[in-house]
Amino acid sequence: MLIFKKSDLITAFIQDQKSKGKAIGFVPTMGALHEGHLSLIHNSIASNQMTVCSIFVNPLQFNKAEDFEKYPNNIEKDIQMLEASGCDVLFLPEKEDIYPTGFVKTNYDLGTLDHMWEGLHRPGHFQGVCNVVKRLLEIVPCDILFLGRKDYQQCMVINKLIDILQLNVKIIIGDTIREKSGLAMSSRNLRLSPEGLHKATIIHQVMMDIQLKIKPGITDVYTENAINQLSSNGFEVEYFSITDNLLNPITYWNGKDPIVCIVAASIEGIRLIDNMSLN
Ligand code: AMP
Repeated sequence: MLIFKKSDLITAFIQDQKSKGKAIGFVPTMGALHEGHLSLIHNSIASNQMTVCSIFVNPLQFNKAEDFEKYPNNIEKDIQMLEASGCDVLFLPEKEDIYPTGFVKTNYDLGTLDHMWEGLHRPGHFQGVCNVVKRLLEIVPCDILFLGRKDYQQCMVINKLIDILQLNVKIIIGDTIREKSGLAMSSRNLRLSPEGLHKATIIHQVMMDIQLKIKPGITDVYTENAINQLSSNGFEVEYFSITDNLLNPITYWNGKDPIVCIVAASIEGIRLIDNMSLN
């Protein structure tokens, strides 16, 4: 696997590969890699001649300094995992390469996406995501961007960004990879104690429960039960909602339209998010 640290070098390399007709798949990450990230790498390898992964913990997308400072860092292990996965190229930039002196943040019009759920609870988060993704796509001009459904709203935001920037980049969204316990894999899980990890599985259980039980009609009772169950197990629930597939909350389900359950909740001070299609 080739490792690039400088943006101009990787850009020249990718452009050369593209001029030779290679399709480039790109998996941007913040590191502390797990099987969820690797599933995206495998998806990319399956449909491209070259797969690029980036690892950059983007300070602009953290609305809490402590969360940024405590973000897990396992770079040696990450490199080993990427080597073993068959990934061709790793981009490992310094902050100055992504945000050079004089860099001015752009404010993107993301519409309601910026004001609901993650947008509402993490002010500035999606603007930070858009700014880094714009830079990464300038540096790594890929054909296909691989994203995880685990960050459902983020997928919608990046889709919108690509529209706004009119980039010729296709998005492929991979399924959420879970632990055997059902807990969605996340770099943040590394910060949980064994007890916290055990409790965190309740998030998946309450969503599965709704998926099994939900019937056409009023939906409030399902979300109320779920919030009660999470709260009584020590979670601080930021939101738990049943929505349509555009993330608009619903209170009544006609039994036909696609619906999604979304949740953000903290345990041991660690904020976890998850989502699940209910039908
Ligand atoms: P992150 O390193 O958390 O910024 O995530 C990098 C990419 O991996 C994003 O597209 C995430 O949605 C995706 N991802 C994170 N966790 C999972 C998971 N459990 N399953 C599938 N994809 C994931």
